[in-house]
Amino acid sequence: MTSASTKTESSIIGSGKVNPSKADQSFIKGLEKLPGGEALRKCYQCGVCISSCPIARYLSEYKPAQIVRMAVYGLKDQLFASRNIWLCSTCYACLERCPEGVRPADIIRAIANLAFQEGIIHIAFKEAATTILNTGRMFEVPEIRKKKREKVGLPKLPEVNIDEVKKLLKSTGLDERLSHVKKTLGSSEQAKSE
Ligand code: SF4
Ligand code: SF4
Repeated sequence: MTSASTKTESSIIGSGKVNPSKADQSFIKGLEKLPGGEALRKCYQCGVCISSCPIARYLSEYKPAQIVRMAVYGLKDQLFASRNIWLCSTCYACLERCPEGVRPADIIRAIANLAFQEGIIHIAFKEAATTILNTGRMFEVPEIRKKKREKVGLPKLPEVNIDEVKKLLKSTGLDERLSHVKKTLGSSEQAKSE
């Protein structure tokens, strides 16, 4: 599968269109200050992180080394417009194997966090966060499934104290951030089945 964002990323990296003098330096410095971003500029594009990555194995457009390179170039807008920054499974294989001590997983997460601060989020994360806010669980468990659990002798799921969950999440500012989302990327499972 090749998305529009992939083409954009490949052409940006591969065609000599990157102008280092136009790099968003505050974005690069901000990333380097975040936990895991310290070794950002040590990446020499060996590709070990790509060959270690389970997401890259199934999705050719996903390349952690490319995301790191774009971050080094300060390509904030292109990164924020790419769904790829939301696809990392945080398995940490890249981080364990990088010969330079670069932490691609942490860098990718930091980029996604910065995007969210600017009101950009992948639809799947928005939906998951909204469900947690409303139910205290990542996924709503349908009644039929609860009954099936009882039928096969599994214990009842513990009740969620939703007021406590809401109080806790409110203190993180999550509900406010979600209400200020300006742009969502990707498509939800629900949208795909429609
Ligand atoms: S393994 Fe490390 S040095 Fe190699 S491309 Fe990935 S981040 Fe860069
Ligand atoms: S942590 Fe993310 S980028 Fe790194 S190998 Fe795992 S899925 Fe790939």
